[in-house]
Amino acid sequence: MEEGAQRTIAAPARLRGIGLHTGRPVEMTLRPAPEGTGIVFRREGGPAIPAALEAVTGTAHCVTLGGPEGVHTVEHLLSAAWGIGVDNLDVELSDAEVPGMDGSALPFVRALRAAGLRAQASPRRVLQVREPVWVGRDGAWAVALPAAAFRAACIVTLEAPGPGDQAATYDPLRDSYEETIAPARTWGYERDVEALRARGLALGASLDNTLVVGGSGFVNRPRFANEPARHKLLDVLGDLALLGRAIRGAIIAVRAGHALHVALARALSEQEG
Ligand SMILES: [Zn+2]
Repeated sequence: MEEGAQRTIAAPARLRGIGLHTGRPVEMTLRPAPEGTGIVFRREGGPAIPAALEAVTGTAHCVTLGGPEGVHTVEHLLSAAWGIGVDNLDVELSDAEVPGMDGSALPFVRALRAAGLRAQASPRRVLQVREPVWVGRDGAWAVALPAAAFRAACIVTLEAPGPGDQAATYDPLRDSYEETIAPARTWGYERDVEALRARGLALGASLDNTLVVGGSGFVNRPRFANEPARHKLLDVLGDLALLGRAIRGAIIAVRAGHALHVALARALSEQEG
């Protein structure tokens, strides 16, 4: 998200799909919201759940906001909004999970663009990274460094011979979020599928919405040679979007996941005071 005026959408947008984890059909309606609102989720008839760090109740396999009656897998929609600069949005869901669509953020970007983006009067708030901040666990790291503008890099180590270790970078001054990050799909290891399903996860995941890594490489065709690293970057942006601000700083994530991304966002929020 670049620095500038806040934005919302000009008209409502509706998407239908199935939850990547629940496997259940869900309808999502995106509506314009006033400046300063941020992104707010709501289950039909339920309370408002802000896309904010205080509302995070789960980071295993996806980001959950608002507890057992809340919403799952908010990160790809939040990434799309942050990536193309949509600050304020009302999101209504007919079920417990944002629709998985094709496993990437591209359908959300297209829906937001089709609804039209509308500039609002107030400037976007900006979080300035003043000192290096880092969080790490078990050889995984998420780091934020002072920099004149936002940029991000991710390193993913893949336990498969073909794709191997890979990196992805994103510099909004040079790269189009829409073209380089948004199309990267959710990915996972073929060997984990049964255990995940036994725990009631990944019930909606299929070769149509997930890039699957098998023992000898990608099972289905990747959109980019480094699609897993690009998707990790997509996730990082969606998780940092929980700060509700543009970021002036450089982010580096090495083998990190949602838990560390959110921990970094909390550390940045504390640094800001
Ligand atoms: Zn993801």
